[in-house]
Amino acid sequence: MIEMEEVFKKYPNGIVAANGISVSIKQGEFVYVVGPSGAGKSTFIKMMYREELPTKGTIMINGVNLEKLKPNKVPMLRRQIGVVFQDFKLLPTLTVFENVAFAMEVIEEHPDHIKKRVMEVLALVGLKQKARMLPSELSGGEQQRVSIARSIVNNPKVVIADEPTGNLDPETSWEIMKIFEEINRNGTTVVMATHNREIVNAIKHRVIAIESGMITRDEQRGDYGYES
Ligand code: ADP
Repeated sequence: MIEMEEVFKKYPNGIVAANGISVSIKQGEFVYVVGPSGAGKSTFIKMMYREELPTKGTIMINGVNLEKLKPNKVPMLRRQIGVVFQDFKLLPTLTVFENVAFAMEVIEEHPDHIKKRVMEVLALVGLKQKARMLPSELSGGEQQRVSIARSIVNNPKVVIADEPTGNLDPETSWEIMKIFEEINRNGTTVVMATHNREIVNAIKHRVIAIESGMITRDEQRGDYGYES
């Protein structure tokens, strides 16, 4: 469902963050993306949801060539891809419910459907009781749960997460991982950039290692690797 062929990304400042990446990720896979800071993990991930376009090469998501995607089709792509960030990126003046509902409102879903579906995903992440609270009233782990709920509310085929446990303590990180596991068990592809060695080594999935903008390792049920 995600195909990259000879992808290069050179930023305007001359930095080459992707240096010939070819990779294929199938529907239903769970993939960790590991590598040192500055290796190009975020760039790799941003190109998947078209936050960045490659300078060269082809990226196909579900048969759609991202480069050739017309601007008016970008919302359709975004609907198929949920994104979770390290710093949650919730809207501070909206409640938990509203933050999640917003993702459905922008694609003009029916209000009745929105209400039902938002409560469904809030139940899935264990936050039904906190639907009326503001993000500032929640712990970091709870805020990340809200952002995960938001990422899956439109039933995307893939969830892309850039260091989702980067700001969380170990215990909370495990709880967040349980939710990603559940999402993946339901058939959603998960691509996750992470520095969390313990998690990668304990919950085994495919590991793609990136260094200097290149894939240096790609293993099914891989280890985190790298000595710390
Ligand atoms: P990682 O996620 O592995 O830390 P990034 O993809 O964020 O790596 O960065 C890879 C390289 O590209 C780094 O050298 C970084 O400084 C550079 N880079 C990232 N984003 C930009 C940008 N918007 N403009 C210029 N350089 C960037």
